[in-house]
Amino acid sequence: MTNKYIYFVANWKMYGDLKSLKSLKKVIRFNNINKLKKYRIIYCPPFTLLNSFVKNFKKTKISIGAQNCHYEEAYGPYTGSISSKMIKNIGCKYVIIGHSENRYEGDTDIIINKKIKSSLKNKINIIFCFGETLKERKKKLTKKIIKKQFSMALKKIKKKQNIIFAYEPVWAIGTGLIPKLNELKSNIYYIKKLLKNSYKIKSPKVLYGGSVNSKNIFDLKKINQLDGFLIGGSSQNANKFIDIIKKTFI
Ligand code: PGA
Repeated sequence: MTNKYIYFVANWKMYGDLKSLKSLKKVIRFNNINKLKKYRIIYCPPFTLLNSFVKNFKKTKISIGAQNCHYEEAYGPYTGSISSKMIKNIGCKYVIIGHSENRYEGDTDIIINKKIKSSLKNKINIIFCFGETLKERKKKLTKKIIKKQFSMALKKIKKKQNIIFAYEPVWAIGTGLIPKLNELKSNIYYIKKLLKNSYKIKSPKVLYGGSVNSKNIFDLKKINQLDGFLIGGSSQNANKFIDIIKKTFI
């Protein structure tokens, strides 16, 4: 891993209820003991728990993010939607945008671009997800797809340094599969180069996401260029999540 701060983003997806708040105590305790270690935790629970998470983590360095938002900047007649302004208002610092599960439900690159723009306007940092499907990987289109996803999502966006880039191969999400290390290394190298050269981001933060767990973390952490991990399934249980963080620093 690099010498910089390593990010551990917990994406709870559509899981969690008020009972889940209990498990946060473990994470807070762990975080207090390991204050000096160079990592940052960002919790992204469902909307219903955002407020409680913000309150629970208030006195800690753990940040809270939403899992998605509407592209409209503030308010409007959009039943069931939440804007980045509303997320900001309750104390969130981040929002995940472009997750493949949201792309699957209709988020196009154009919508994703709008969401990034409005969130940055509201001073919310972005965790931008991108990555190829299995079909695209088989056709060896991974780099081409990433390039295209960037060119659409990052169009006319100025504060690109406020974006964390999360490479999530769609076929690796929730499947227990991860890319071969060489393949992942080459993709991360490509992503960083692209962000530095074409998008002029001095030191882009690039995470990997997709079936990260306390076993494969030993391999994944060997990739020096990675700045952290976006963790779904294994982040919902505090012990598993803490275990991944611990093992990253062994
Ligand atoms: P997973 O999810 O760790 O359960 O594969 C990752 C994600 O979708 O962000």
